[in-house]
Amino acid sequence: MNSPKTPSAEPILVTGGAGYIGSHVVRDLDAKGYFPVVLDDLSSGHAEAMLCGELVRGDAGDTERVGALIRARGIRRVLHFAAFIQVEESVAEPLKYYENNSFNCLRLLKACLASGVKSFIFSSSAAVYGIPGTIPVAETAPLLPINPYGASKLVSEMLLRDAAASRPGFRYVALRYFNAAGADRLARLGQDYRKPTHLLTRALKTALGRFPCLEVFGDDYPTADGTAVRDYIHVDDLSSAHLKALEYLENGGESRAFNCGYGVGHSVLDVVAAAKRVTGIDFPVVHAARRPGDPAALVADPGLIRRELGWAPPVPALDEIVASAWKWEQKLAARKN
Ligand code: UDP
Repeated sequence: MNSPKTPSAEPILVTGGAGYIGSHVVRDLDAKGYFPVVLDDLSSGHAEAMLCGELVRGDAGDTERVGALIRARGIRRVLHFAAFIQVEESVAEPLKYYENNSFNCLRLLKACLASGVKSFIFSSSAAVYGIPGTIPVAETAPLLPINPYGASKLVSEMLLRDAAASRPGFRYVALRYFNAAGADRLARLGQDYRKPTHLLTRALKTALGRFPCLEVFGDDYPTADGTAVRDYIHVDDLSSAHLKALEYLENGGESRAFNCGYGVGHSVLDVVAAAKRVTGIDFPVVHAARRPGDPAALVADPGLIRRELGWAPPVPALDEIVASAWKWEQKLAARKN
């Protein structure tokens, strides 16, 4: 891939850098002066999503190959995005999730530890909390995932915790993402899964006529309007948290996990209303049964990440997040037609 960076830019390994969140972070790493070396098998990512850096097609769990790549490029920092992400699929096919998310993280970690990697940023998830006893949920809350996706991320966090404790020169940050949403504010990047399952994306694709209706999974949750509540975070802001996490480790910050959310919850019906407002399309909505593995509410307590990483972007209105995704969806639809 083409990149404006000179060969002196520091190489940084980004697994899953051709995916939704990874591609936004690759964009920002390049702007910060790194040279992103993206390792992606393109099972859900797209080579076109890389605005910069170099694509190495392959498996993040191939310890020998990844170790050779790290040594050949003199890589010292790694960001690990490559993973499966669908809660419902993880319930149906748990071993697929443990294999790709946990075992591959272990294999990648082995390559990193054997090759002198110093800093590791891991894409974890709020799903590690399961059904939190209190909302907003702080990092100190019990880690009791209720689906294999969340459990597979928790296993990876434990691998990282123990590996870091055994190696003083190796430190990590696990970012527990709440609900990534929206798209690059210039609409160059966005979500483009082959099987879209996320709420906002499904709503906007329904507005475009790609699906006959949007299903609302569960309207009998113990929430204000009966639908599930999530902390939707703009992907550009989520991306900036990764840059802050790298800085934190550079400045000697200790290994730990941080919530990555605004601390603001929106229900499924709030998102549907915003999608209708922004698109101006009154798309059909039907009420359906709860989706297996879904907690009623997940909203971050962002206190720790604000204090320790200095990550405190202005909280955008839900409509702003939706508008960025809508611009991208329209562009994507035009490209695919
Ligand atoms: N959801 C829904 N209809 C959809 C997709 C999702 O009602 O077509 C709900 C889902 O049950 C959850 C919330 O929207 O309560 C957010 O789901 P999403 O898949 O976007 O993210 P998750 O919270 O599972 O990571």
